[in-house]
Amino acid sequence: MTARVLVVDDNIANVKLLESRLKAEYFEVMTASSGYEALEICGREQPDVVLLDVMMPGMDGFEVCTRLKADPKTQTIPVVMVTALDQPSDRIRGLEAGADDFLTKPVNDIALVTRVRNLARVKQLTDELLLRITNMDHDSSSADLISDLETSGAVGNVLLVEDRELTAQRIMTVLEEEHTVFHADTDASTRTVLGREDIDLVVISLDMENHDALQLCSHIRSLGKTRHLPIMVLSEQGDDDRMLRALELGVNDFVHRPVDRNELLARVRTQIKRRRFSEYLYKRLEERVEQASRDPLTGMFNRRHLEEHLQGMIDESIRCEKGLSVIMADIDFFKSVNDNYGHDCGDQVIRQFGSRILQNIRRLDLAFRIGGEEFLIVLPKTTREKAMVVGERLRSVIEETPFRISAGDSNITVTTSIGLTSVNAVDDTTAAVLKRADEALYEAKKAGRNQVVIKAA
Ligand code: GH3
Ligand code: MG
Ligand code: MG
Repeated sequence: MTARVLVVDDNIANVKLLESRLKAEYFEVMTASSGYEALEICGREQPDVVLLDVMMPGMDGFEVCTRLKADPKTQTIPVVMVTALDQPSDRIRGLEAGADDFLTKPVNDIALVTRVRNLARVKQLTDELLLRITNMDHDSSSADLISDLETSGAVGNVLLVEDRELTAQRIMTVLEEEHTVFHADTDASTRTVLGREDIDLVVISLDMENHDALQLCSHIRSLGKTRHLPIMVLSEQGDDDRMLRALELGVNDFVHRPVDRNELLARVRTQIKRRRFSEYLYKRLEERVEQASRDPLTGMFNRRHLEEHLQGMIDESIRCEKGLSVIMADIDFFKSVNDNYGHDCGDQVIRQFGSRILQNIRRLDLAFRIGGEEFLIVLPKTTREKAMVVGERLRSVIEETPFRISAGDSNITVTTSIGLTSVNAVDDTTAAVLKRADEALYEAKKAGRNQVVIKAA
């Protein structure tokens, strides 16, 4: 994966060094030698990742980071603070300024490429999700979506996989300061914890005595259920080969031993926070997809959803030879409800009509509002004879109980005409089925309304 990286440092030699290492990995590199220049480039170029030196004259890295994170236009750009090794407090300040990660000078090659690659991937995924959501819902902007969520990486559920008792105890003591930790030291216990719905992160020791950590990483990535679960590995300094293998397998982050307490906690928090943010975005996207196929007044599916799904249901019924019936219902003399009581009362009737239908069909059936006061119910695995019973039941459910409307606190009697047809022919199409149901409905209207008419295939 390639990405556009902005390197910011007032020391030209440092800029050149990072630039050449990143270019060797085929990243596209931009450079800035001051905080002001960095802000200007971020606003204009929207890089995928910023590597930001902390100590710079004029505006320092913390200030640049704070400003980037405060501006909706730049706040999703990941920032990596590049700090001196002897300044652990800088890391904390960096995280407080909203930095997404940190690297210590002199910068280790694996660390550099891993952090940049992971953050660029997170950024591209986030941008894509935000774009899909805002494309579906023009009322919400990316900035709103981001600010709606107070993401925090605190109080997570962490699975620690380490089969050396003492080492496990030391890591648990640190993690338990902020999280609930599940410790696993066998394949069986690992599987049990991974089966839980609420795990936020897996921390795996690369140096277990009796277990193959890489095998486990690969297993987690291959299962549908855990594919997106963040993984962090703990490794001995210098064990670069296995570390690179782990990263190739899709591990999200690593911490070297001896584990620095602050670094471990900060990295765990970051992984959990990211996981929560992307879950939040996926959920918003699902909601938008759901909304796009619903009619807001009745909560029923809309015509667009019908067009997308009816042919598939027809094909399926022909394939299984189980039969499928379609009911088209139209409210009788609805125009007079509007004329006599007003449009709002008309809406109240449509809403109650919809809910009565939904209450009187099976979970398996699908109900659509396909026009102003026109509805379609698709009944899978239902013969014409059974559908006739359903049609008659719906007709009487509408007629028998008067509808409540707010105008003058009155109740009004409403009736509906119903046209019904079933799929029979092997080559039946959506258009043919809808046409037959429509013709049957027309017959019902012509014959005096408030009745059910069947049209054979
Ligand atoms: P018929 O028995 O032949 O179906 O007569 P009808 O009056 O129900 O049929 P017509 O098609 O003449 O009128 C339907 C009316 O429904 C016209 C339209 O203004 C009204 N309508 C359509 N959508 C809505 C809506 O969402 N809310 C309200 N209140 N009225 C709507
Ligand atoms: Mg009508
Ligand atoms: Mg009509």
